[in-house]
Amino acid sequence: MKNKYVFTGAFLVFIIIITVVIGVVSNKKDKPENESTEVVASFYPVYVIANNLLDGIDDVNLQSLSEPKTGCLHDFQLTPEDMKLLEKADIFIINGSGAESFMDKIISDCEGITIINGTEGIEGEEELLMHAWMNPIKYLMETENISHGLIDALPQYTDEIERNYKSYIKKVMGISVSKSKFPIFACNDVILFSEAFEPFAEYLGLNVLLTVDLDEEREVSSAEVKEVIDAINANPGIFIMVDEVYGKKLAETVKNEVEVKVYYIDPLTRGELTDKNYYIDKMNENIEILYTEGQ
Ligand SMILES: [Zn+2]
Repeated sequence: MKNKYVFTGAFLVFIIIITVVIGVVSNKKDKPENESTEVVASFYPVYVIANNLLDGIDDVNLQSLSEPKTGCLHDFQLTPEDMKLLEKADIFIINGSGAESFMDKIISDCEGITIINGTEGIEGEEELLMHAWMNPIKYLMETENISHGLIDALPQYTDEIERNYKSYIKKVMGISVSKSKFPIFACNDVILFSEAFEPFAEYLGLNVLLTVDLDEEREVSSAEVKEVIDAINANPGIFIMVDEVYGKKLAETVKNEVEVKVYYIDPLTRGELTDKNYYIDKMNENIEILYTEGQ
């Protein structure tokens, strides 16, 4: 009799084990092995980093949350389509430091998503880290952070990601060659017509006297125009860095009033998704503009 109970007990344990195994297998069916890993980058600067790091890895599908011509995400509103994209995503790559104002919603609504924060742990003011990519040194750190995040999330591609990381940072470090040609201006003071240029000025060792924050479409008050003109008059030799998309109108207004040199700088937030070299090429160009026209 006793043996019969032992046998029944063992049989029940066997059934339970089989049930658990079948459960695990059928759970896995939600994500078959041949289905790709979905990676979403919040906007263009972090998309370019991810696109370089994931180069040649075919079963990882990288998409951009915002259109590649959106620019910064300061006034970005998530659409239902955006939420659908993120709900399906395995990994979401962000710049962090407040660049993505909608993160609370992602954290509460997209359970199980792995968030890779590019500026996490980088020392510096949050205001500057919000546009960290505009300082190539911070950009290197951000690239390193994202490569670590991707390796943690996709350990099966460690070798590929490490190889891509090494080859990409070599190119980024080449930007310092452009910087070494950077002229010593008679006046190191600068006025910025975009908050995004503050880390760029930091990289170049320029002294930011005034920032007019034109990072998105908005009206400029006459008081702001006056403040710019007063700063130019008080600091002979001062120059202005302008994002053509949002700052050209103010630059033209100012130039009508007072003589000043204006440099059009690319905030590196708007390019083609297929262009892996956009950051390198345009950052070099940004420095070259100051070099060639600054003579
Ligand atoms: Zn911005």
